[in-house]
Amino acid sequence: MRTTRDRAVKPITYAQPPVELPLRTDSEPVPAAGCGVCAALAAQRREARLEGDGSVVSDCNVELRNHPHPGEST
Ligand SMILES: [Zn+2]
Repeated sequence: MRTTRDRAVKPITYAQPPVELPLRTDSEPVPAAGCGVCAALAAQRREARLEGDGSVVSDCNVELRNHPHPGEST
């Protein structure tokens, strides 16, 4: 139900990345081929997920996304 008052509510801008749901794998970053750092992060993420440590999984995803790869055309 919407009223005109709803328009005055500002959307919250989150400073933190969105929560990664453990059961969803389609939205996760994939490690770059040939990148040792990405491979290590992916391995760490897999272990963390097996242990049910969602915060570590999320951290690994963030690092994977932010890991720079010079030469890639992204
Ligand atoms: Zn990498």
